[in-house]
Amino acid sequence: MLEWYSKGEDCGDYDFEDNIISVYKNQHNSVLEIIHTIIHEWCHYKQSTKKYYQYDSELGYLKNPLEIQADEIADKLKLKCRKDLFY
Ligand SMILES: [Zn+2]
Repeated sequence: MLEWYSKGEDCGDYDFEDNIISVYKNQHNSVLEIIHTIIHEWCHYKQSTKKYYQYDSELGYLKNPLEIQADEIADKLKLKCRKDLFY
């Protein structure tokens, strides 16, 4: 499920318990950035909740390998995704 908000403090987040991706419009300057956020949060949906929280407590948010993986996948897929949507 995807929820769209006009304002928020982060670009987006993922609620592991309720399977809800939230995207905050005010944190983005382009469609490409929004696509990046959605793919990033979607990766969290595919990842293991247990591992995520384990890494989170051991390494913290920024060093969490699942965060890094989500950014890498989003970077790889966002251009193709935008192309599929608009061209
Ligand atoms: Zn993330």
